[in-house]
Amino acid sequence: MVHAIRIHAQGGPEEMKWEPVELDDPGAGELLIRHLAVGLNYIDVYHRTGLYPVPGLPAVIGMEGCGEVLAVGDGVTGFKTGDRVAYANPIGSYAEERLITAERVVRVPEGIAANTAAAMMLQGMTVRYLLNVTCKVGPDTTMLFHAAAGGVGLIACQWAKYLGATIIGTVGSEEKASLAKAHGCTHTINYRSEDFVARVRELTDGKGVDVVYDSIGKDTFPGSLDCLRPLGLWVSFGNASGAIKGFDIGLLSKKGSLFATRPTLFTYTAKREDLVDSANDLFDLVNRGIVKISVNQTYPLRDAAQAHRDLEGRKTTGSTVMIP
Ligand code: NDP
Repeated sequence: MVHAIRIHAQGGPEEMKWEPVELDDPGAGELLIRHLAVGLNYIDVYHRTGLYPVPGLPAVIGMEGCGEVLAVGDGVTGFKTGDRVAYANPIGSYAEERLITAERVVRVPEGIAANTAAAMMLQGMTVRYLLNVTCKVGPDTTMLFHAAAGGVGLIACQWAKYLGATIIGTVGSEEKASLAKAHGCTHTINYRSEDFVARVRELTDGKGVDVVYDSIGKDTFPGSLDCLRPLGLWVSFGNASGAIKGFDIGLLSKKGSLFATRPTLFTYTAKREDLVDSANDLFDLVNRGIVKISVNQTYPLRDAAQAHRDLEGRKTTGSTVMIP
């Protein structure tokens, strides 16, 4: 018997209950993991509220964790008891221990602490595909990145700076502006007090940016489209303020023959080799100190409800982990 945070219905943070759950022995292809740290991500909020479905109820939510292998199922190769591993999918990480298919797990290099690994897998591999695959960001790229002081945001600022891009980041406070700048953001805009479209136009001499990375959704739509140059790329990859409803594809033509994509990490890492390449690229940048993972909040896992309230209340910066 172990403890986990489960929801019996989708809804507010109060639906998350710390309760005992039974675990079987690992089946063929599975590992039993004891979590050392569990990552907090905005997708956990969508799973909790019902914006995204969960496989069934009751559900252990949470997508990301780092742990130690306790037992190995039949047919698993490449992992043994005692290995330190991490993952960013599938759902079920808000638990002291869990079963997971070995296909979705990677070994964590020695120099990377468990808290760091748990904080960075989902957000870091997301930044990797956003900047290197969805759009090939380089020294000639000018980009707008919303929520630049968040978990994904602070990693994106550092990675994009390393690639040589000019980064305009939106933030919700002056403290967050300083933090984003300290992590490589070229310019910041406080979109709570400034008109971000007008400021982007000003900062780009009226030209607009090459690419907008928008994880805010409802509140920054359609403004984000107005920040783009003709033929620019709108990457809508999240809904922190709520989902965009009734998107009219004709807007892309009216606003300059724009390109649009709505990507998810889970497509970009669906193949085992892509997962391994993504994780290795991320580990490499972290090991070389090019990307530093800011674990700015830590909670006991049993207080996950408070962690969700703080994340939704825009009180967190950088990444957050929860300790079982
Ligand atoms: P963050 O740490 O970035 O937290 C969300 C931030 O969004 C807040 O801190 C806040 O920053 C900003 N925000 C703006 N408006 C709101 C609002 N109405 N309510 C709450 N927050 C708001 O979270 P993550 O790093 O975990 O994720 C960032 C985004 O990236 C999420 O939308 C997530 O779904 C998405 N994502 C998408 C992936 C994909 O593959 N598609 C994978 C990973 C993440 P501020 O106060 O500065 O505005």
